[in-house]
Amino acid sequence: MANCTNCSAPLPLDSITCTYCGSRNDADLAGVHYFTTHELESGRTCPRCAVPLRTIDLNINGRFLIERCDGCLGLFFDPNELETLLEATVTNVFNIDRSHLDSINALRKDDYGVSYIKCPVCSTIMNRVNFGLKSGVIVDRCREHGVWLDGGELRHLFEWMKAGGKLLQQERAEEQKRIETRELERERRKQQVPSAADGTSAGDIRFDLFGGTLRQSDPDLFDIVIKAVRFFAK
Ligand SMILES: [Zn+2]
Ligand SMILES: [Zn+2]
Ligand SMILES: [Zn+2]
Repeated sequence: MANCTNCSAPLPLDSITCTYCGSRNDADLAGVHYFTTHELESGRTCPRCAVPLRTIDLNINGRFLIERCDGCLGLFFDPNELETLLEATVTNVFNIDRSHLDSINALRKDDYGVSYIKCPVCSTIMNRVNFGLKSGVIVDRCREHGVWLDGGELRHLFEWMKAGGKLLQQERAEEQKRIETRELERERRKQQVPSAADGTSAGDIRFDLFGGTLRQSDPDLFDIVIKAVRFFAK
């Protein structure tokens, strides 16, 4: 938990503004990543404050440039940069702490409420999308140019990673995939049988003795009949 640099009070998880003294804290990157600032050259503008964004270099596997607003401390990431930063910062997470995941969402405090802001690059209104499963953070995304995080949201996403949020998301995705594969398989079988004109498919054996067709696709019944035939043949 980060504390206010001015009065030491704990900061709310999703905010960089201290609820006690009102000062704004640079809590997203301080103590997490060393970075160098560059001259204003990007020509990109803060969607909250309308001032030019400053390029900063986080130095992850070489140059890693993102944009930051000196005023509101919001951050802008090009596509996939945010995911890379999260992966590089929070490693060795093997457990999903479900109760912590629930509690970090309960602690969430949104400084801006529901508002739509413009992409710093193309100025179209960005989409508000939930980041990950149960992260509780709604990011502003331009499909083409990237993602805007308000001050404090990156810290929240680090917490979410640490609590295993990403693992939970992967687990759900795999489960979803299993369900879909199973359903596809069921559909495929339904369409395969019957295929021949007389209602039998290639692998089926006719047992006219029983007055019907036994399908190899009914493995249990097929097995019982084979055993019975062998028994009487002895
Ligand atoms: Zn304070
Ligand atoms: Zn700003
Ligand atoms: Zn854009």
